[in-house]
Formats: sequence, structure tokens, C-alpha cells
Amino acid sequence: MTKLMETRTVRVGDVLIGSGHPIVVQTMCNTHTADVAATVAQCRRLAAVGSQLIRITVPSLSDVPALQQIHDTLREEGIQTPLVADIHFSAEVAMAVVPVVEKIRINPGNFHPDHEKARQLFGQFLEKCKQYNRAIRIGLNHGSLGKYIVEKYGNTPQAMALAAMEWVEMCMDAQFFNVVVSLKASNTVVMVQAYRELARLMQEKGVVFPLHVGVTEAGNGDSGRIKSCVAISTLLSEGIGNTIRVSLTEDPANEIPVAQYLARRYGPVIPSEASVSLSARETALLKAACDWGAPLLNHEVDDIPLEDEYLKDEILQACRRRFYKPEYIACPGCGRTLYDLENTFNKVKAATAGFKDVVIAVMGCIVNGPGEMADADYGYVGEGAGKVTLYRKKDPVLRHIPEDEAVDKLVELITADRAE
Ligand code: SF4
Repeated sequence: MTKLMETRTVRVGDVLIGSGHPIVVQTMCNTHTADVAATVAQCRRLAAVGSQLIRITVPSLSDVPALQQIHDTLREEGIQTPLVADIHFSAEVAMAVVPVVEKIRINPGNFHPDHEKARQLFGQFLEKCKQYNRAIRIGLNHGSLGKYIVEKYGNTPQAMALAAMEWVEMCMDAQFFNVVVSLKASNTVVMVQAYRELARLMQEKGVVFPLHVGVTEAGNGDSGRIKSCVAISTLLSEGIGNTIRVSLTEDPANEIPVAQYLARRYGPVIPSEASVSLSARETALLKAACDWGAPLLNHEVDDIPLEDEYLKDEILQACRRRFYKPEYIACPGCGRTLYDLENTFNKVKAATAGFKDVVIAVMGCIVNGPGEMADADYGYVGEGAGKVTLYRKKDPVLRHIPEDEAVDKLVELITADRAE
């Protein structure tokens, strides 16, 4: 068990997050929020397998009544798991969900293109959260830092931490302390450095908020699990991290046993009575990723003595020490996803497995997908209505392609670029 970096305690409903408490395991629904029955059913399942917080996207004001219904139905059924509203861009939606759920995740920098205006809106949001005694997560992701931040600080782990500190300091000035912070990235090196830097900066300020730790767009299968484990375990082994999410492009229930493994390995006590057991193979895979993540990411070793060559390749790639296949970035999907992300991602992986030294992103929506796929060379982004846009770096190069042609077009695009 690791001694956690000392933090404040944040209350989210009945759940306490911070160094004096067990590591909290959480996930996010991938149903459409407007589909109340499907979202309630998924929340029931997630609570039953041990998710201690459940996040739900709220794409627009018109989804707020559905969020209220989901919340009320769960409480009527006796399910007390706190809900977290996931808000992108709209301060108006952020304000509207404060009376509805226990916690709100926002990136305040995206509240308004004008930075001063964004600060003003964030100040108003904090006042409302104080009034309702809510918790918030300031969630900044690599790749969606916003123009102002990138121009001011650059696009580095240090920039991510400095950008977060601006909002953290505003919370301190407003005497609002029910705050959790996250700095996710799909690149494990960037992610680890960003959290370390943020922890250092908060310690310097003398107010340390709990950290929500995770690798964003980690993908699926063994690779997604290993990528999450190498980075999250590195931070937890240093005492950094109070709540975790293992993002997988799969059924969100599959994330929980992996997160519970991590929480048990590094946390003060077993996080939840509800738990799902892992197979012997999965346990061995997670153990190896946790054993070797920190030594590889910290460059304490250059190779690892594993006989299983596949596992060795996967761990080395997750730590960005050796690339044996394309690097895949895929969001976990949420209520904004407008196509069958999981199957499409598997098709993209199968069709592109032969390429080397390339980063391919598969993202669920056109609203956040392009911004979030920070390091990708190519992006497959669902537009909805059966259409896809393909990206080369940040540029959309083929728009409105029918879904059933898009994987082939992606392969053609990469092949043509390589022939040049
Ligand atoms: S990129 Fe993926 S996870 Fe992020 S908002 Fe869009 S669909 Fe949801």
C-alpha cells in the first residue's frame, strides 16, 4: 500500500475523495442521455459491479430534464451512486445541471473563446456550486487545451499543469474547495509528467485538491488495459491519484475490475464491496503492466525480462519505449457517440495492423473528437447519420464519407501518403 500525497477531502454525495479515503473507482455511461431507460439500466449495472461514481454526458440544455429523470429514478430505486454531469463548452449547460447532480465535470477554458469571459463564467459557476454544495472536476485534456492556453504556455505537460492551476487558484480565491482536478492524455509519458507537475504546483501553493487520474482514449482490449495500468500505477505508486477511471472503448462495466485491481494494489483499503473477479490471464497482464510501468516510464530499465513476447511488446509500447504496431487512440464513447464505435475501432485495427510508426485515432463524435486526438497522424471521426470525416493530423481531408467505405478510405489515405 502506498502513502497517498496529502490532499483535501472532497464530498460527492456520500462518497469522499482524498488522501484520507480509499481510491474511488468510476466510469461513464455510453448510452444516449436522452434515452432515459437505457441510461438508467446502464447506471444500475455499473453501480452493481462497483462503480462508485457514474458520469453522464449532457450535450445540450435539452438533455437536462433527462438527466433529472435518470437521477430521480435511481434514487427512487435506492441506488445512491453519485452522478457526475460531463459538460463540454457550454457554461449555460454547466449552470443548468448544478441543481440536478452531485458533481459537474467542466473544462472552464472552453466556456468561452474570450479568456476573460471564460473566467467570469467560471466565477458564476463556482458561486452556484457553492449554493448547492456541489463538487466539480476541472478536467483538462491534452489536445483540448484551447487557443489561449496553447499560445500562452505551449502544448506540453507543464502547460497543462499551469493551465489547470489558473482555475485551481480561482477556486481558492472564491473559497470553493470541493474540487477535483484531472489532466488526462492518451500519451502515457505526457500524462504522467502533467500530473506530477500539477501535484508539485499545488503543493507549492499549499492547497492540494484530490486528483482524478486516467489515460484518455486508451483504446480497448489488452492494449487499453495495459496503457491505463502503466500510467495510472506509476502515479499511484508515487501517492498521486485519489479517484481513477480506466477508459476503454468497450462496455463501461469492463473498466471496473481493472480500476478495482489498481485501487486495491495502491489504495488504503478495498474500495467497494461490489466487485468482479478477473481471470488469471487478466490478473497476470495487469500485474506485469503495474510492475514494469514505472521502471520503463522513468527510464530506470530499457527492457523487461518477460518470456511472453506479446506482453513484453505491449508493455514496451504502452510506455512508448518501442513501437511494434500502430499506436491507436480511441475514445471510450459516451452519449455523444453517433455510431458503433467499438466495432468500428476493431475494424480499423484489423485493417491497419500492418502499418508501422503511425498513430491512428478513432473518435466517437465530431464535437470533441478532432480536438481530443492530440498526437494522431490520422483520425477517423464519426459525424453521425452514417457519415465519417477522415483527418490527416488536424486537417479534415475527406468529409461525409459513408460509414461502410470509411475504413477502406482510411487505409487508402495512409497507403498513398506512405508511397509519396
Ligand atoms: S470524443 Fe468520444 S468520449 Fe469524447 S465526447 Fe466525443 S464521443 Fe464522447
